[in-house]
Formats: sequence, structure tokens, C-alpha cells
Amino acid sequence: MSDASLPALIEALRRLPGVGVKSASRMAFHMLQHDREGALLLAQALQQAATRVRHCAQCNTFTEAEICPTCLDPHRDRTKLCVVETPADQAAVERTAAYRGLYFVLMGKLSPLDGIGPKDIGLARLFARAGDGVVQEAILATNFTAEGEATAHVIGEALKQRGLKVTRLARGVPAGSELEYVDLGTIAHALVERREK
Ligand code: ZN
Repeated sequence: MSDASLPALIEALRRLPGVGVKSASRMAFHMLQHDREGALLLAQALQQAATRVRHCAQCNTFTEAEICPTCLDPHRDRTKLCVVETPADQAAVERTAAYRGLYFVLMGKLSPLDGIGPKDIGLARLFARAGDGVVQEAILATNFTAEGEATAHVIGEALKQRGLKVTRLARGVPAGSELEYVDLGTIAHALVERREK
């Protein structure tokens, strides 16, 4: 097994989203030629994150603890649950400082064309979480893309049937956009102006 390390590294890098064999090779050559220290740091960081990071038992976001710091924060309004697609979207809403409730992070969105259904994004867990008897309002903050809208619709109908108030971020967040890339003022405004579904 001589000289297998470099091809193995390139193959491993190709597992990253959007990385083909050309860019994987370029990254591998760069690290080996110019940044061995960075390569070792990356290896350690990957190992640590991959073995330690898991999902919060309450909101499903990434955390190293059983329950994440946000869910444990006693100053949060437990009657509000903001539903987002990804931890990056959650971070975008957090940065506005306009929201003090709790979250549920779907870690994806419904996408029938890609074979992603309710089971794949843990909707049963969301419904159980939202039905704890404390949550009164679900704020649907999925992205304003076709899939995000469809996901919001399915969740909204199910939660309304369970007797919850369901609101959606106001328009103003541009159609087709992902929260992660929307400016803070626009998200804050969309939160304040959210509408009942
Ligand atoms: Zn949590």
C-alpha cells in the first residue's frame, strides 16, 4: 500500500459538497506543499467535531451537550417556537436580537423531488416538541424558496390542527431567498410583522 495516502485524501475531500476531483486535488496539493500545520489542525478539528457534536434533544440544533445553551436559557420565552431550516438560519435570526423565544431546527426541508419527506427532517419530533403544552405560537421561518414555502405549509397545517397559533415571517424577505443571506434589519422587520397563517 505505498503511495495510497494522497489519493485517499483527495477522495475524502471530494465528499465535501460542491467539490469535484479538480478542486479536491488542488486543496490536497496546497495543504501538503504549503500548510502541513493547517492540515493537521483541520484533521484534529474534524475528528473532534465529528465525534463530539450531536443534536440538541429539544431543538435539534448542533451542540455538544444533551440540551443546547439556548434551550437551557431561563430568559427565553418558552411560549414561542421559531422553526428554521438550518443552524445558519437560526444564527441569522439570533443576530437580529428581535426574537427571544426558542427554536426548532429542521436540519433540512421537504423536497419530494430529492426524495426528502417528513421522516427525513424529523417532523414527528417537531410536532412532539411543539405539543409540550407550553408552546403557544409557532413562527415559521423556513426560507422563502419553493421548498421552504412547501415545508412551512405542511408544518403550519399540522400545528394548527394541534391548536397552536401559527405565524409566518412577513414578506419583505425577498422571494427565493435564504435567511442566512438576508440582512438583519429585514429579518427583524419580518419577525415583528409576522402574520397569522
Ligand atoms: Zn436546543
